[in-house]
Amino acid sequence: MTAVGVIGLGGMGSRIARRLIDAGHEIVVWNRSPQRVAPLVDLGADAAATPAQVASRVEILITMVADLRALRSVTEGPDGIAAGASARASAGASLTVVEMSTIGPAGIAWLAAALPPGTNLLDAPVLGSIGEADAGSLRIYAGGPGALVERVQPVLSELGCVSHVGALGAGAACKLVANATLFATLASLGEALALARALGLSDEAAYEVLAATPLAAQADRRRDAIAAGEYPPRFPLALARKDADLVSDAAATAHVELRVANAARAWLADAERAGHGERDYTAVLGTILARSGHTTAPLEVVALQAGYDGVIVDLDGVVWLSGRPIDGAVEAIAALRAGGTRILFLTNDPQSSRVEQAGRLTAVGIPATEADVLTSAAALARMLAAQERFAGSGALVVGSAALADEIRQAGLRVLAPPMALQAEVVVVGGHEGFSYADLRAATAALGNGAALFATGRDAVFPTSDGLRPATGAILAAIEVASGVTATIVGKPEPLVFEIACESLAGCKRIAVVGDHLDADISGAKRAGLDAFLVLTGATSRDELDWAAVQPDQVLASLAEFAAGQRAS
Ligand code: NAP
Repeated sequence: MTAVGVIGLGGMGSRIARRLIDAGHEIVVWNRSPQRVAPLVDLGADAAATPAQVASRVEILITMVADLRALRSVTEGPDGIAAGASARASAGASLTVVEMSTIGPAGIAWLAAALPPGTNLLDAPVLGSIGEADAGSLRIYAGGPGALVERVQPVLSELGCVSHVGALGAGAACKLVANATLFATLASLGEALALARALGLSDEAAYEVLAATPLAAQADRRRDAIAAGEYPPRFPLALARKDADLVSDAAATAHVELRVANAARAWLADAERAGHGERDYTAVLGTILARSGHTTAPLEVVALQAGYDGVIVDLDGVVWLSGRPIDGAVEAIAALRAGGTRILFLTNDPQSSRVEQAGRLTAVGIPATEADVLTSAAALARMLAAQERFAGSGALVVGSAALADEIRQAGLRVLAPPMALQAEVVVVGGHEGFSYADLRAATAALGNGAALFATGRDAVFPTSDGLRPATGAILAAIEVASGVTATIVGKPEPLVFEIACESLAGCKRIAVVGDHLDADISGAKRAGLDAFLVLTGATSRDELDWAAVQPDQVLASLAEFAAGQRAS
């Protein structure tokens, strides 16, 4: 019998190891999390201390890890497979690495370059899930020299049916072709059902039609899960999204346009963002149906948005738009408060005071006082108040009356422009009265050593009459004239979120709900807070595919956040 190593003992790797033990092979295993090793040791496997040790002890080494990142971490460095392969080669013994994870042809090319000369390599990814791995009925697509495939055939045939499909990398390519069809089929099924329901067809009628189409088998297989909204994990959705990314990347490298595959990938990414990464990849069906508003199963009510005792809520685009409350927002705030969740409204608008914002909230049906609101102006003032060196200092305020009031309440003396040379700080916030005299006074104060602070850097803000210059535009003039760079306190700076959290002192779990990917989501993530993006304001779903920072969850509205919180 052959000495075989298995590195990566997740859902698939643990079953592969178990079958090989049952077949009587001498098995050496390693896994990043040690608790997955013990059950296999109980069955007769040997545990190695490092991937290098596995490689140095076996003739055939199977890797079955999540992705390329995982493969790199088990291959590189003094404890990695490459180091063990070198040690084995120096001892004059041969090693064949059989890479079975799904990492795409580019990942295989990387592995070939990372292994020392003389190490044999095959790619042999699999079709089939944990059921097929248990039963030894996987489809294995092997790429590499034919003689090598023949040599490992006795071991691989314990796991399933082996097809030799070409040179190194061909197996990985086959796997991407298979998964591209798998994801596209599921997405088509979800969309067909969403369309049927939207057109008023009964599910009975919809499944009858689908039975006469190429989707018949999938429709039949997934029907019960769709009805129950239950997708028990076999192939985690996060791994499927990773595979869909591999398909898109490989297509881009090969200059082939895949519109359908990319659309299926976008659905998987949506489902993952909606909190279903740990569920089976077929949970994407629930996401497609929920997005269309025609779900019968409550899949979208997931636990992610549950259990917060404090929530920082953006105003524009979340609570109201152009001053009009967004559908369901008033009721959502009432429901959150009734459930004991404390709410702080956080806005970057430096022109209105907290009292004015609280008044507007109360007027639309959300009772609020100034303590329920934090503006960027108030945050800046609190930051200054917290610094002893500014206590009683002179401040030149280039901003609204509301900003000047906040600065005064923070214990600083607000100076008129002619007194600019007495200013220790210059504070800038967007307002409509900005003048050349302000610019001259600020330049003089900063030239005299004053420190510069601003409520934000947004260049413009939207109104029903189009874009208007915002704080950033005024600040740019002052920075250019003075050569001094401002410290920013408003969103997306983490500081404003930290100050917001202080206002929610006592809350153990705080979330941010906002509509702006940069100001709200990026800012919240930088401050280490959970971030929920709602689609009622500045951001559309399409923009998410390209966004560098992703929210923890995407929700239709604040109402959906409150529904999830109630479900906890
Ligand atoms: P899994 O249950 O999530 O297991 C992933 C394995 O990778 C675990 O052993 C994990 O170690 C390891 N790993 C993850 N990140 C690592 C890192 N940074 N360093 C070291 N080890 C790391 O996944 P699976 O379902 O077994 O899938 C394994 C591979 O097979 C994936 O490429 C997947 O796409 C592919 N595949 C899966 C299926 C399926 O139905 N499940 C079907 C066909 C192909 P820990 O235990 O420490 O987390």
